[in-house]
Amino acid sequence: MTLHETLETAIRTIPDYPKPGIMFRDITTLLGDASAFRRSVDELVHPYAGTKIEKIAGVEARGFILGGAMSHQLSAGFVPIRKKGKLPHDTVRIAYSLEYGVDEMEMHRDAVKPGDKVILVDDLIATGGTAEGAVKLLQQMGADVVAACFVIDLPDLGGRAKIEALGVPVRTLIEFE
Ligand code: IMP
Repeated sequence: MTLHETLETAIRTIPDYPKPGIMFRDITTLLGDASAFRRSVDELVHPYAGTKIEKIAGVEARGFILGGAMSHQLSAGFVPIRKKGKLPHDTVRIAYSLEYGVDEMEMHRDAVKPGDKVILVDDLIATGGTAEGAVKLLQQMGADVVAACFVIDLPDLGGRAKIEALGVPVRTLIEFE
């Protein structure tokens, strides 16, 4: 099977979750499939093999799972970006836009150093509001965000352009309407 076929098979779609009219793309089935999980992580890190990447930054919560595996593959550190109030030490915080309203995310102030090469990862990019907040937070701390990676892109929602406008290339493995 091609990676695309593997992903199409391994990602579960749940209609009307979390509310009517939403088609929720569920990667827990992909994570539970050893071969699909490995191939996805291999594909996400492939362009950066042999490059010095200091940190993988993962967005809570599914970005932690993908990011941990990517960190191991690239011998990079891992940086958790979390909902506000979850991290125990001194943090930097940014407001970001959700489909309806705003929220805030945080990272530890000492999690990246100026000039660090960082790859951001999450399971899915939709409007791009979440990833935009995470990239801005990393860039504010002086990180060189070399890429933003997602398993799934929902291109109709236009997230890619928001991230590219920040000077960060976007890498995704599969698109859904
Ligand atoms: P955005 O900020 O609109 O790009 O939404 C992306 C964020 O919402 C990511 O953190 C995703 O994990 C989450 N998200 C939105 N829609 C889905 C979905 O269909 N499946 C899984 N996560 C989703």
